Amino acid sequence: MRYVSTRGQAPVLGFEDVLLAGLARDGGLYVPEAWPSLSAVEIRSLSGRPYAETAAKVLAPYAPGAVAEADLAKLFAEAYRGFGHVAVAPLKQIGSRHWLLELFHGPTLAFKDYALQAVGRLFDRVLATRNQRITIVGATSGDTGSAAIEALRDRASVDVFILFPKGRVSEVQRRQMTTVAADNVHCVALDGTFDDCQDMVKAMFNDQAFRDRHTLSAVNSINWVRIAVQIAYYAAASVALGAPDRRIAFAVPTGNFGNVFAAYAAKRMGFPIERLVLGSNSNDILTRFLGTAEMTMAPVVPTMSPSMDIQVSSNFERMLFEAVGRDGTRVTELLTRFRKDSRYKLDGEAMGQIRALFDGHRLDEAGTLEVIRRVYRETGELVDTHTAIGIAAAERSRLDPGMPVVSLATAHPAKFPDAVEKAVGFRPKLPERLHAMMTAKERVQDLPNDVKAVQAFIAGRVRG
Ligand SMILES: *Cc1c(COP(=O)(O)O)cnc(C)c1O
Repeated sequence: MRYVSTRGQAPVLGFEDVLLAGLARDGGLYVPEAWPSLSAVEIRSLSGRPYAETAAKVLAPYAPGAVAEADLAKLFAEAYRGFGHVAVAPLKQIGSRHWLLELFHGPTLAFKDYALQAVGRLFDRVLATRNQRITIVGATSGDTGSAAIEALRDRASVDVFILFPKGRVSEVQRRQMTTVAADNVHCVALDGTFDDCQDMVKAMFNDQAFRDRHTLSAVNSINWVRIAVQIAYYAAASVALGAPDRRIAFAVPTGNFGNVFAAYAAKRMGFPIERLVLGSNSNDILTRFLGTAEMTMAPVVPTMSPSMDIQVSSNFERMLFEAVGRDGTRVTELLTRFRKDSRYKLDGEAMGQIRALFDGHRLDEAGTLEVIRRVYRETGELVDTHTAIGIAAAERSRLDPGMPVVSLATAHPAKFPDAVEKAVGFRPKLPERLHAMMTAKERVQDLPNDVKAVQAFIAGRVRG
């Protein structure tokens, strides 16, 4: 299995290099050269297996020669051991044909833990065999930073620096980052906005000498292996609801298109996924695109579902690559136009392929609160703002009667207590295992918005 870039001009890489590479050198994203598939017999054999075994079975064809399936099964078992539910990703029925897939049982209460807990361990494994070290530098507006820190804490070959805008993340989000007592983890409260943090990270990556000296690397959702690991919960949910013999739909609250692209990959691997329903908040670039066939940029509006407050869905590039028949030149053309004009239009055939599988629905702030309130009243389940948007999209999608639909619960309601309280009148309880964090000692460095100061801080803290 080799990996190619969506823009067709970067070197072809193997699994380990794709794991460590961020963006491809031509600015594209890595995808498998060909989609591996599982037979109906293999899919049926996943029924009733522990989650870690399913995850290993699904990831193994992407890493042949790099990590054996048995080693992957061990690695996943280890990665998910501390999760708050024995099933790891349990399904809960909330309607006659509607299920919730709970993906918030990891250490930071959002679905990003499912991929990052495994990716952190894969990093360590590959770096140890190559006798190499890396320095992860990332900017966060909340969720990604804590998930990355939890995944990479205490890893021998990795140092982690996370920049967040001082005073602009919630207390729970800040504490999830700053109370991690690990020598290789460093939180920086930057005197600036989230955009300043992102610009700072970019500036460090563009400083070639600094980048090479500290072997800088990233863990954002453009990393292919993060997506590949996420295929597992689509596989497990499909099998639990009757795959390979029963067709199924998923509804996914979507920002960068990383999570839902894993569902697409699951379909290509042979899981009988009939429909993928996107939910978006007021930042609805994707749902507008599905309606008009035109991708047009608009300013970001802050909402109660901040993890979906994004302007450009970077992972959509992978879907575009498939829709235009894997033509890297065409992808480059479209995205060059997008950068120049802030818009591009997709032609009939490519758009037809996308519409045959996806539909999208947008939910505003009042609608989001209403869904949280109604789901609680009807089922007793508390859902977070992101999850509510996926649920509404599932309900609005015109699916074959009787086809099961699974909505992804991407965050725990306690992660967004203010919005949930607004909807139902009380604050959701933080899971027991997170209580200690609220009184633990915080470790954080305040720094000015100045590249030299941040670089000096990093240079002084990296180990080895
Ligand atoms: C990151 C995130 C999303 C968006 O996922 P994408 O892969 O970016 O589409 C949705 N909900 C929550 C809670 C998230 O943290």
